[in-house]
Amino acid sequence: MVLKKAKTAARHPLPFFVFMFRSRPVVLPRERKPHDRFSDITGERFPVAESLSQGNTALWAKIYPNIFKLKVFIRMKKTYHALALFSGGLDSIIATKVIQAQGLDVLGLHFVTPFFGKPQLVPGWEKNYGIPITSIDISREYIRLLKEWPLHHFGKVLNPCVDCKILMLEKARELMDVYGATFLISGEVVGQRPMSQRRDALNIIRKAAEAKEILLRPLSARLLEPTPMEESGLVDRDKLPQISGRGRKKQLELARKFKITDIPTPAGGCLLAEKESANRYWQILKHFPAPEPDDFFFANIGRQYWSGPHWLAIGRNRKDNEELERLARETDYLFDLVDFPGPSGVGRPVPGQEWNEETIRQAAALMASFSPRARQSHRGVAVRVQHRGEEQDVLVIPDRDLIGTWSIPDWDTAREEKREKEKEHQARLAEKKRLAAETYWEDFAEEGGEDGR
Ligand code: SF4
Repeated sequence: MVLKKAKTAARHPLPFFVFMFRSRPVVLPRERKPHDRFSDITGERFPVAESLSQGNTALWAKIYPNIFKLKVFIRMKKTYHALALFSGGLDSIIATKVIQAQGLDVLGLHFVTPFFGKPQLVPGWEKNYGIPITSIDISREYIRLLKEWPLHHFGKVLNPCVDCKILMLEKARELMDVYGATFLISGEVVGQRPMSQRRDALNIIRKAAEAKEILLRPLSARLLEPTPMEESGLVDRDKLPQISGRGRKKQLELARKFKITDIPTPAGGCLLAEKESANRYWQILKHFPAPEPDDFFFANIGRQYWSGPHWLAIGRNRKDNEELERLARETDYLFDLVDFPGPSGVGRPVPGQEWNEETIRQAAALMASFSPRARQSHRGVAVRVQHRGEEQDVLVIPDRDLIGTWSIPDWDTAREEKREKEKEHQARLAEKKRLAAETYWEDFAEEGGEDGR
């Protein structure tokens, strides 16, 4: 139906604009989830949250999604030779440019989760580097991967690098049909990273993602076996680099050759590899049976406190307060000082763990303790608590010595818990393998063993 409309629209420009502006109601920030997708086919992200948070008007909020749709529509009509995993880092830029330089069309896929991805930078990258790029939201798949535990383990912190790469390649492989692409490229460099870019890890990733025949790693291509794309002559192997190791010298030389002046700073940007953020995420993985992407965005904001399974976020500044308010759900507890300026607090209950009066009172006291004026009043202050459409005022002393068991969890404890979980995971895997082997031999015996063939 939509396709038919679009085809008619392409023939008649005026109705086309009517189609654009009438096709989908604009969802205002409080009502929409930040990770609603525009397209179920591609998972391309609908970046309203960014456009609104940059202070744009309601009119812009109305127009922007339609421009975005038009862009996605046009892009989906075009085909590409290759899809590139495009993080925005120097390696991904150079890998894409190297293939573009051979006259091949490449579309960059920029994957977005609560832990990495900067879809708001995509228009700038497209302009600076001359690479068409689309943002793909893989939050849900990624959270499932974390919750179910990565098959190839976490890195030093909470970064499941090998499984992360596998997931991105799988997603890219699924999108090849949509964009008519015949191969994938990634900016991986042999020996650059200890976990996911060792030669054996590169092979594991390629095999597990079922991308053995379709994945080209241009930067290290001449150090790796030739791929079908090189053997068939689609890509000229002789023109591909042979980069290895951790340095960036050769990539910088290539950047100069491609006249790239806007050089991104090295690595970083993945919150799963940073202890402070990982500590926040660990609490969610520990307590929530089925966390949502919003939970992790919520964890990125302000000060984060836990008391057993009870979770409270307190804004550090106005931006935090607005973000917390935007992400608040009906089931959350919203805390605001009645008579003093101060931060906002939002308590998010773990399913099945409702808060009692004492927990609410302590959370209110903790939130109020971050208001200097409330503290200096040296008296009880009123905090308004909203929950499920109802509100009540609680009187509290804004003193951090009276906040019971609320505290900021530390990474050392989280790391120990992670180790224990890893052991449990390994034991489960070993048991699964043992059972699979047992079943295999039982079936083999039932079929008469080798004589039964
Ligand atoms: S650092 Fe983060 S984004 Fe990069 S591979 Fe590891 S988990 Fe994925």
